[in-house]
Amino acid sequence: MTAVILALGGNLGDREANIRSAVESLKGHKAISKVKLSPLVESYAVTLDGIDESKPKFLNAVISLETSLSAKELLAFAQQIETAQGRVRLMRWDSRTLDIDIITFGSTLKATKNLTLPHPRAYERAFVLVPWMLLDPEAVLPGHGSVAKLAADLRDQVVVIE
Ligand code: AMP
Repeated sequence: MTAVILALGGNLGDREANIRSAVESLKGHKAISKVKLSPLVESYAVTLDGIDESKPKFLNAVISLETSLSAKELLAFAQQIETAQGRVRLMRWDSRTLDIDIITFGSTLKATKNLTLPHPRAYERAFVLVPWMLLDPEAVLPGHGSVAKLAADLRDQVVVIE
């Protein structure tokens, strides 16, 4: 079994329902266990040009789980959940109903066309680091160190909802 951290978020539709429905889908997979959801956090949409207050705000969370799937199989399942929730892939930085990223997959380090592990931008994303730190204060992001330390500098970029 591999310990995994996923990041979920969206800024369209019923954002909380979308996240909770993804949790149920993950729990329903027979090769996935110990699914735990972090507190939810809200933040402004970020585009290539920076914060865009005209766009709907994002709701994000992190999930820890264990799985016997490969990273590739887990990514495929995550994309199946995204699609089932009506995500239409338009532009990379566009609004979306639900996005699921694999943040860490055990201690795997890899960079292929379809999958980079750990996620290359996790270290600078408040909406990943803050909920992750709240879920697991001892968490470590391979290559970057303590998640709590990384999150401390970015804490004011998100509002913790619950
Ligand atoms: P996005 O538009 O952010 O959902 O980008 C998804 C694309 O990023 C997918 O086609 C994946 O193949 C690729 N990708 C690369 N690394 C990761 C990762 N760690 N987690 C999720 N998607 C990834």
